[in-house]
Order: sequence, then C-alpha cells, then structure tokens
Amino acid sequence: MSSPAEKLAEVRERIAEAARKSGRVPDAVRLIAVSKTKPVEAIEALADLGQRDFGENQMQEALEKIERLRGRGLEWHFIGHLQSNKTRFIGGHFSWVHSVDSERLAGRIAAAVRDGEPAVRLLVQVNVFRDPAKHGVASEELFALLDAILARDLPGIRLCGLMTIGRLGGSEADTRRGFARARRLLEDCRQRFGEGFKELSMGMSGDYPLAIEEGATMVRVGTALFGSR
Ligand SMILES: *Cc1c(COP(=O)(O)O)cnc(C)c1O
Repeated sequence: MSSPAEKLAEVRERIAEAARKSGRVPDAVRLIAVSKTKPVEAIEALADLGQRDFGENQMQEALEKIERLRGRGLEWHFIGHLQSNKTRFIGGHFSWVHSVDSERLAGRIAAAVRDGEPAVRLLVQVNVFRDPAKHGVASEELFALLDAILARDLPGIRLCGLMTIGRLGGSEADTRRGFARARRLLEDCRQRFGEGFKELSMGMSGDYPLAIEEGATMVRVGTALFGSR
C-alpha cells in the first residue's frame, strides 16, 4: 500500500501529464479530493500535504467534517445529488455545488446564502451520456435552464460552468466522445453567457486523465487518493 503522500504525488503527476497533452499548464486543472465516507484524519493527511479542495456528497457527514476542520483554509465542494431540504446548509459551508440541475434548486441555494457570505459557485450537471441512471439536465435543455436561472439575477450564487459524470463501464472512445461534447457545450455557454462560464468538472479515478485531455478544469478523484470505499 502506498502512503497518502505517494498517492497524491502520483495523481498530481498524471494530472500534469494530461494537462501538458492538452496544451495547458498543470495549474489549469484543480484537483478535488473526494473524501466521502473517509475519516477526518484522512482529510488532514492530505491537507498537510497542501491539498485544499475536498468533495463530499452526504450533507450530514460533510457538515461534521467541515466543522471539525474549520480554520484550516479548506474549500468544500458539494458533488452529489442535492435534496432540496438540504440546500439551506450550502451557504457558509460549501464554496461550490457541482450538481445543480434545476432552477428551483439554484433558487433555494441562493435564498439561503446570508448577507456577508461569499456567493456560492454553481456548476450545472449535464447528462451528456444520456444515462437514465444519472441526474443532470439533457444537453437540449441546458440553455433554457441557464436563461431561467440568470433571469432571476440571484445575488447568492454565481454560475461558473458545467459538470458531467462518465458512463460506468463505457468504452474509452465513448467516454472521450461524451467529455468532448461537454467541452463543446461549455464553449457554447461561454459565448452565450459570458467569460465567467469557464469551469468544466469531469473525470473521476477511472477516467480523470482522459477528462483532462478533453478539457476538464476540475477533476473529482476519490479512490485513487484515499483507497477504495
Ligand atoms: C464518488 C464520486 C467521485 C469520486 O469517485 P472515485 O471513482 O472514487 O474517484 C466523483 N464524482 C462524484 C459525483 C462522486 O459521487
């Protein structure tokens, strides 16, 4: 078994290599360490090595970890399906939500951000693989959803880009095509909605180098950093 330091170094190396292949510097890709189900000590071990961004998908578990690690300057990403009765916990705890797929959810997140708290950065989850088992909006519905959210001019949130999840067990070619579609969608959004629309969250332990080659600016990596769950 390799140590946390070795695992982190290997993931960083593979990120750097994939970034170079896509003509970018390693810093152009943000590594989100997906710490769901893992104890606070495992997060601290990576934080001690300079890892700043962590992803969680269960609200109660995440809130406990966030409280215990306050003051360490970590940035938290909510990456899973967000139930509407949990949206009130986002502001003040999470900097990013990767999984917005409705106007209602965006509105609820925004409404719970208090004065003085930074705006929560949102990514809209797009189901580019048309996977019926996945949440996320269909590509054809994306622009309408963004128009609707932006029309409300909500001060508590900032739309920053898109997120997608590769199909489980899909071939490499299939995965690559889906990621490339997400990249083109992001570019269309940027033209239509402005330069602030620039983040593309895609790639997990099994496919993050590929996702980076296709343009990911954020990768969400759990198993390759923390071991299996
Ligand atoms: C769990 C999870 C990840 C990390 O998956 P690994 O395969 O362990 O790297 C990434 N994104 C989402 C949305 C997840 O739920």
